[in-house]
Amino acid sequence: DLSTTIAEAARLLAGARDVTLLSHINPDADTLGSALAVGLALHRRGVAVRVAFGEPETVPESLKALDTAGLLVHRDEVPQAPEFLVVMDTGSVQRLGPLGDRVTNCTGPVVVVDHHVSNTRYGTLHCVDSQAEATALIALRLLDEMDVEIDEPIARCLYAGLVTDTGGFRKAGPEAHKIAARLLETGVDAYAVTRPLMDSHPFAYLGMLSRVLAKAELDQKAAHGLGLAHAVVSLDDAREVRSEEVESVIDVVRSASEAEVAAVVKELRPGFWSVSLRAVSRVDVREVAQVLGGGGHRLAAGFTFDGTAEQVVAALKGALERVES
Ligand code: 5GP
Ligand code: MN
Ligand code: MN
Repeated sequence: DLSTTIAEAARLLAGARDVTLLSHINPDADTLGSALAVGLALHRRGVAVRVAFGEPETVPESLKALDTAGLLVHRDEVPQAPEFLVVMDTGSVQRLGPLGDRVTNCTGPVVVVDHHVSNTRYGTLHCVDSQAEATALIALRLLDEMDVEIDEPIARCLYAGLVTDTGGFRKAGPEAHKIAARLLETGVDAYAVTRPLMDSHPFAYLGMLSRVLAKAELDQKAAHGLGLAHAVVSLDDAREVRSEEVESVIDVVRSASEAEVAAVVKELRPGFWSVSLRAVSRVDVREVAQVLGGGGHRLAAGFTFDGTAEQVVAALKGALERVES
C-alpha cells in the first residue's frame, strides 16, 4: 500500500548520492513544486540534485520563484543514464517527452510519485494515490517519512502545487485545507505565491482573451445534451503572450453555465494541437481524453491532436458521444 511504498522510497533516498527529479512536459506548479520540494531537501543533505522537464525550452516565468536553490537545469544537462530518478505528477512515460528515455536508461531506482488514475505503473516504485488532490500532498508524506523539516522554501513549493491542482482550494477537502494551514504556518505568503500562478497576466492577455472569446462557441447538444463550450487559440492568437496566458483561457471558458464540458484547443506548432478539457461533475473527461490518446483526471484532462482546429473539435464531439455520462 501507499504507506509501505512511501517508506521504501524514503529508505532508498536516504542512501542516494545523486538524484534526478523529473517533471512532466509543459510543467505546472504541482509537478515542479513537488520535484523542487523533494529536490531541495535532498540538496541540503549533500545529495547531487537536478530537476528538469522535457519541454518547453525555458522555465515558465510564473514558476521561477519556486526554485530558491537553483536546482532546475535544461533537459540537455540530465545524464543519459541517471543513477536515481524521481518522477513527479506524470501518469505515463510519454508525458516526459524527450526525457522519457531516461526511465529505461536509469541504472537505479525509478520512484514515481503521482495522483493520476491513469498512471501506467512505469518505473520501479509507485507512490501513487489517485485520491490525492495534488502530487504535492504525496510529496509531503514522503518528506515527512524522510524526517525533513518543512520550512518556508519547501512549503512554498508544496503550497503552489496544492493551490493550483485544487483550483484555488475550490475542490479541496478538509485534509487538504489542514495541510494548507500547516504549510502557511511556516511563513509562506499565500497571495505572493498564488497571484503569479493564477491571477496575474501581462496586459496583452486582455487583447488575446477578447479575440479568442469572441470566437468561442456553445453547443448545447454535445455531450449527450449536457453541453460543450469551446474556444480555439491559434498560434496567431497567442503571438504576443506567454504559455501561462494560453493555459488560463480554460478557466474563463469553463465558467459558461450552460456547458457541462469546456475545452480549449491550443495550437502548439502549425497543425499540432493540445486540448484542455474540464467538466463540472457529470462527464468523465479523462475517459473522453483517453479515447483520443490523452489522459488526466475525471474533471480535468487533455489530449494532443494533429490536424485542423475543426478536425480537433469534431473528434472531441465524437469522443463525447462515445463516453457515457
Ligand atoms: P491541462 O488542461 O491543465 O493541461 O491538463 C489537465 C490534466 O490533464 C492534467 O492532469 C494533465 O496531466 C492531463 N493532460 C493534459 N494534456 C494531456 C495529454 O496530452 N496527455 C495526457 N495523458 N494527459 C494530459
Ligand atoms: Mn500536472
Ligand atoms: Mn497534479
